[in-house]
Amino acid sequence: MTLAVYACDPARTRGRRFAEPPAPTRTDFQRDRDRIVHSTAFRRLVYKTQVFLNHEGDLFRTRLTHSLEVAQLGRSIARSLGLNEDLVEAVALAHDLGHTPFGHAGQDALNECMAPHGGFEHNLQSLRVVDQLEERYPGFDGLNLCFETREGILKHCSARNAQLLEAQEPGGVARRFIDRSQPSLEAQLCNLADAIAYNAHDIDDGVRSGLISMAQLQSVDLFERYRLEALAEHPGLAEPQRARRLLYDTIRRMLSAQVYDVIAATRQAIEAAAPANADEARQAGPLLRFSAAMHAQSAALKQFLFGSLYRHPQVMETTGQAQIVVRQLFEAYSLCPAEMPAVHAARPDSARAVADYIAGMTDRFAGREHERLTGLKLLQTG
Ligand code: MG
Repeated sequence: MTLAVYACDPARTRGRRFAEPPAPTRTDFQRDRDRIVHSTAFRRLVYKTQVFLNHEGDLFRTRLTHSLEVAQLGRSIARSLGLNEDLVEAVALAHDLGHTPFGHAGQDALNECMAPHGGFEHNLQSLRVVDQLEERYPGFDGLNLCFETREGILKHCSARNAQLLEAQEPGGVARRFIDRSQPSLEAQLCNLADAIAYNAHDIDDGVRSGLISMAQLQSVDLFERYRLEALAEHPGLAEPQRARRLLYDTIRRMLSAQVYDVIAATRQAIEAAAPANADEARQAGPLLRFSAAMHAQSAALKQFLFGSLYRHPQVMETTGQAQIVVRQLFEAYSLCPAEMPAVHAARPDSARAVADYIAGMTDRFAGREHERLTGLKLLQTG
């Protein structure tokens, strides 16, 4: 398909940090996507928690299935808008590579442990994974991805870390946090696709776990509107034994409505701003967007999930235990770096080496290591 003028064109990439000859059959963004899929960090996503710990059930999302859903939604929207699907896919598949074990609980605990050493941010860690931590090439650390892919991976960044990155790479991926411009439209799309994906799948997982109910969800406008629409079209879905189909039909309708809304609202914004190329799109403010009405509905759903699911006492209890595991792992490796593999133990930046090692762990490996080092079994990690 033809790319719109405002899309990122791989033929005009700002390039890689280490120059490489072009691939004979693939564009640079396709190549980035392939490098991400073959990375070690990508394979670990299958055993990393999104909301529910990995062992809690085989059907809950993990970071891997979440990333695939983000890529699917992103590609579908990209195709309609003439954006670069390969770049969207690469960013979507890489966007969570820097996540610690145990979801946000793990990240918060690691951030506290690292407070005296510059903190820990998972978006920055995703960039560290692809820039430094993957060990696959003879000539350089990391995967040596294109600027545009790295720009999309660094979704957020504190002002302090932006200055540090800018010092290492002037005019690079951190510059936009200093001059307050936007990333490419493909990167903006991944952020929105991420939110659409987790809002939808957390409803599914939340109901499956029994922590939230269909009755509670009826207070959420976006959900209720499409539940009623599904029932009006298929009255048989009201039967209790068809509750799961009703849930899925509602979620499917919600997802479609959000996708069509993003496409229509973004088309309008792009028409008004009329960027002549990808750089003008970066300077035009956020163009990838929901309509005002959908934005409000999506925010209300997010708020519901925050209060009813992410802060559910049962989730909080597990996340409390997970934070203890991460803190005690950090203490144990800091006291005795030799407990880590040699490549980490030998690093001079020892606190960061410990953080990198823990951040790379899957839920179950972190649980096993914790048990090995402390003799305690705080989590049933399978
Ligand atoms: Mg995500």
